[in-house]
Formats: sequence, structure tokens, C-alpha cells
Amino acid sequence: MFKKILIANRGEIACRIIATAKRMGIRTVAVYSDADAEALHVRQADEAVRIGPPKAAESYLDIARIVTACRETGAEAVHPGYGFLSENEDFAAAIEAAGIVFIGPPPAAIAALGDKIAAKKIAQQAGVSTVPGHLDTAADADKAIAAAREIGYPVMIKAAAGGGGKGMRIAQSDAELREGFRLAGSEAQSAFGDSRVFIEKYITSPRHIEIQIIADGHGNAVHLGERECSIQRRHQKVIEEAPSPFLDEKTRAAMGAQAVALAKAAGYRSAGTVEFIVDQKRKFYFLEMNTRLQVEHPVTELVTGYDLVELMIRIAAGEKLPLTQKDVKLTGWAIEARLYAEDPRRNFLPSIGRLTRYRPPQGDGIRVDSGVEEGAEISIYYDPMIAKLIGHGASRAEATARLAGALDAFVIRGVSHNIGLLAAIIARPKFREGKLSTDFIGEEFAGGFKGETLPPEIAAQAVAVAAAAQRIATERDAAIAGAAIPERWVVVQGESRYPARVTRRNETIIVAGYTASQEVVTDWQPGDGLFRGTVDGVATLFQVERAGIGWRLERGGAVLDLKVLPPAAAEALARMPAKQAPDLSQHLVSPMPGLLVSLAVAEGQEVKAGEELAVIEAMKMENVLRAERDGTIKKLCARPGDSLAVDQIILEFA
Ligand code: ADP
Ligand code: ADP
Ligand code: MG
Repeated sequence: MFKKILIANRGEIACRIIATAKRMGIRTVAVYSDADAEALHVRQADEAVRIGPPKAAESYLDIARIVTACRETGAEAVHPGYGFLSENEDFAAAIEAAGIVFIGPPPAAIAALGDKIAAKKIAQQAGVSTVPGHLDTAADADKAIAAAREIGYPVMIKAAAGGGGKGMRIAQSDAELREGFRLAGSEAQSAFGDSRVFIEKYITSPRHIEIQIIADGHGNAVHLGERECSIQRRHQKVIEEAPSPFLDEKTRAAMGAQAVALAKAAGYRSAGTVEFIVDQKRKFYFLEMNTRLQVEHPVTELVTGYDLVELMIRIAAGEKLPLTQKDVKLTGWAIEARLYAEDPRRNFLPSIGRLTRYRPPQGDGIRVDSGVEEGAEISIYYDPMIAKLIGHGASRAEATARLAGALDAFVIRGVSHNIGLLAAIIARPKFREGKLSTDFIGEEFAGGFKGETLPPEIAAQAVAVAAAAQRIATERDAAIAGAAIPERWVVVQGESRYPARVTRRNETIIVAGYTASQEVVTDWQPGDGLFRGTVDGVATLFQVERAGIGWRLERGGAVLDLKVLPPAAAEALARMPAKQAPDLSQHLVSPMPGLLVSLAVAEGQEVKAGEELAVIEAMKMENVLRAERDGTIKKLCARPGDSLAVDQIILEFA
């Protein structure tokens, strides 16, 4: 076995790999850019080597520097994690040429499977069911249209070099195909330096179900069951689970056998994932193979009991697979949610900054894979994932309940995050019933995520919790100032007003309203991000924050703003005029910070609903902004080439 390995990655996956290496008694070497000098993965490793400035191209993607770091530290093997150089055959080859072991597949297998068109050809030859489509590059828009007509709309335009959901467009018609061809090609060029695209059938309302495989260098390959990753946004996974609530034993076995056949045909070794798209009739089609450890691998580990990183390391060291297909048993259920530093209420605007508070939840059946600590910086340079939170239990219902509780209890402050949306997704009846598809988020949150409404009994608890928080804060101030503690308050929530008498009897705070009274017991103190306690003996929990003179409570995807005011102040507030929001209905505003690539309209032009108005490039994606209804353009307020702030006005309607 290796004595020392280097991890050519950062963040949670570097920490994840270090943990297994430590358990196996292997020494670890971290690499880091200047942005990560203080990062957790650097402190967890036995040694760390600086490899360059913050930009990934000059550090985490710099093959020569990483090879040098191996030589300097005497690392015998390199684990690439996911992203960065993990699927780069030149990197794997350079590592091997330097006499170091690459903990992953052979370079030839990476090369053969990395190109989506080439991979589909290998899959077809291996007897794998593939998505109907053209196995050639579409040279121009006319050729693409010819291919699409032959396949039949709707179709998908995909970058051959694609990954991370980039360079992908759905087209329902010739016109959409022409536009999609242009956008996918230019997106692929800027993301991968390769503009080749191809056309395949778009499977409607599909499910994404993938098979984890593991193969050794002695000709043995098995699959570790499936993961369902149908909850996606922009073709990127948000929530993943194992097993899939959709698969029966027969389909699972058929998909598994095909995945293993593909791995064998490609001369594969190490862990890999064969992704399938599955239609509503359980017909499945190969999409692509990811020749690396997958972000969502923990759910497979929890239901199979195998440590995938350990298996990868053992296989790289030349060991035989310690299991056969019949050893693989799926027990229980695991569901993973990806926590991102982004604001789902503002069109997923990325959020950067310092994690002023970071308290991951703990408990039975909860796994947190994370690469940050309180005080860490979420920077613009890398993937904005903060952590992966996984709920595990005997059944899907138990795993979901544990994940829901853990999301509610996860305290993150300093950056915006998507916990509310994640909580809202897994609370939806369709999710609970396992009725998933890649359209789930678009359909369930049509028009964007606005926040959930809590069931009445929980909303009633929130009023009592806000009143108790106010009482505790007032008691503390009164103790300092030696003042009396008022008992009469009005809890104001939007247009609603709840007059209450708030008193204390030993540990219990009594919130007495006109009709009912609630008893709150808690050890919460002002400044705690999480309010835990009981209301009338029932355990409850809310995220809590001071918001101006009020309290902001959050739970289950709902945000509640409550003010607990002395009666006179509540009356004065009622007399204040409501603030007027600026009227944006007459304007097209930029939904995100980005570059205005083009304007498709001129002043005075009439437009129909759905017509293209402008294209904005943000986060390497080109986004088409369309007219929401018929109208006339009065004035253009920005020009192509301008960099736009969020909510900046692009044009004005008449
Ligand atoms: P997974 O199924 O493991 O989630 P993803 O496609 O989401 O796979 O990719 C995992 C990580 O790798 C993400 O951080 C993603 O941005 C990155 N990634 C994947 N493919 C590429 C690529 N071709 N180029 C750059 N980054 C990529
Ligand atoms: P990436 O390399 O970006 O991961 P994939 O080919 O794996 O690209 O596709 C990513 C996602 O896009 C899938 O999980 C699915 O939601 C959607 N998708 C891709 N191809 C199709 C298709 N032919 N029909 C329907 N959805 C598709
Ligand atoms: Mg994929």
C-alpha cells in the first residue's frame, strides 16, 4: 500500500479523500492556491504545497506544478477528486510518465469516454441502449436541422466536450434549433475550447438515474447499484438519492449489466459512473460516462457500506476488488442535498463572502461532507458549493425526515445559501411520493422560488417563538439597565397583529393571546442562530436572526418576519405608509450580473411575447432574455459589451 498520496483538489472533496487516507494509515499531501492558504484541506493534510495564484488555470489546473509537488514531497500516488483535472487524460498520463500512480482510470479510458460522441459509439458497440441521435458532429445549423428533423423534435443540442450542464440546449422547432445551435456552440467554445456539438432526441419528463461501477486491474468489474439525480436545475444535480424510488429489480439489473459491459469494453479501472436518462415507461438510455469519483458518491456509500475512495486507492495500488456482484446489497435509503452559496430568491445569484457563522447539524443518520469552517471565505474563484448534507435511514421516509430536520438546523450566516429551497423541495408531496423528473424544480417552482407557507400549527409556534425571543432579549437588557420588563406586546406579521401578554414562570415563558396561550421553554440566548425549545411541550426549531427591530425566523423553506412591539409602537407602525416599490413592469432588467452580449431589438420596435430581447453571459452561460408579453420598445438603456449589475435596466417598454 502507498505510504503517501497527494490530493490534486480542494474543498470538501479534498477533505473527504484525506479522511479515508488517514483511516488507512496513508500520509497525505494537500496542494493549494493563494486563495486557499488557510483552507481546511490544507490544515487537515500532513503536508501542503503551494501551487500558484487563485485562478484555477494557474494552480489547480496546472499539471506541471502538481507533478513537481509530487516529486518534492515523495507522494507515490495522486487522487484527482472531481472537477479540475479529474477527467483530463493528459494529467493522468503526465502523472504516470513521472512514475507516480494515478488513482483513477487509465488515460486511454478517460480519452475514449471523455468525448460524448465517442463514448456513445463505444456504448452502442458494447450493446448499451443509447439515446437516439446522430453520432457525428453537426457541422452547421442546416446540418443540425436536417439531423433534428430525422430524429424528430424535441431534440437536445449537446457539446461533445460537455460537462457540468454547459453547452446544452433543448429545441422544439427549426427556429429554436438554429438559435440553440449558435448558443450551445459558443458556450462550448468558451467553456471547453471546443465548439463541436451533436444532436440527440430529447426525452421528455425524464429521470436521471446513474449506475456506480467499480473495476480493478485484474478484469473484475461490478456495479454498486444506482443513484437517482432527477432533481436538477439547468441540467445540474441538486438532490440525489440511492436507491431510486423508480427502479424495479429487473431494470436495476439490466442497467447494471450494461454499465459493467461498457466499463469492460472501455478497458476501465477504478470508480466510474454510467449515466442514463430514463423515460416514464422505464426505458433507459445511456447519456455519458463520468470517469471519476462523483459528487454524489456518499449516498452509494451509505446504502452499500463500501468506502469508494478506499476502493479506488486499493485498486490503484494493484489490489483485487474485495467484492463480487452478489456481495452488493442495498440497505436503507440515503438522500443528499447540495448546499450552494447562491440566492434562490434572486434568480440564484451567486453569493460570496465570509461564513460569519457555520454550524453544521449533527445526529443519527446525518452525514456532512464539507470543506469549510466558520470564518472561511467563499470566493469567486471556485465552485460555490458550501457542503453536502446527507440524510440516511432505514426507509426513504426516514432519510427524508432526517434530511429535513438537518436542513432546518444548519446554521449558515454571512453568505446567501439555498437551504430554504432544498427544504422546500423535499417537503413537496410529489417529492415525498417519489414522483421525480428533471422538470421537477421548473414545474414545482414555476416563476421562481418565492418561499413556502408553513402549516398553521407551525406558523402559530413562530408567533410564540418570536415573543419568547423578545422576552429573553428584553430580560437581558433589563438586567443590565435595572429596568422593568414590560408584559404587554403586539406581535406584528405583515398585516396581522397578535396582542399578547408575555410573562415568565421559572423556565417557562407564557405567551397569552386573546383566545389561547402558549408555553415556551428554551435555552436560546440572543445571538444564537438557532432557536431550539418546546412550544406547549412539542419540540420546535427555527433559524432566528435580528432583522431591524424585528425577528426573522426561517424553517422548511419559509421566511417569517415578525416584530414584537410595545402596543404604542405597533399603532404608530400601522399609521406609517407602506414603502412604494419601484415599478419594474415597464423595464427589462438584468436578472444577474453579467455581460450584455447582444440586443435583438431596436427602439420603436414591436415585440411579441416570447421573442428574444437580449443575451447575457454570466457564469459562462449565455442566457436569452425574452419578452414576457407583447409590447413596444421605447428606449434601449444598455449596449452590447456593457457589464450589467443585477437589476440594471436594459431597456424600457412604451
Ligand atoms: P457530478 O455528477 O459528479 O455532480 P457534475 O457534472 O456536476 O458531476 O460535475 C462535478 C464537478 O465537476 C462540478 O463542480 C462541475 O462544475 C465540474 N465539471 C464537470 N465536468 C466539467 C468540465 N468538463 N469542465 C469543467 N468542470 C467540470
Ligand atoms: P453533463 O456532461 O453536463 O453532465 P449530461 O449528458 O450528463 O451532461 O446531461 C446532463 C443532464 O441534461 C441530464 O441529467 C438530463 O437532465 C439532461 N439531458 C441530457 N441529455 C438529455 C436528453 N437526451 N433528453 C433529456 N434530458 C437530457
Ligand atoms: Mg452528466
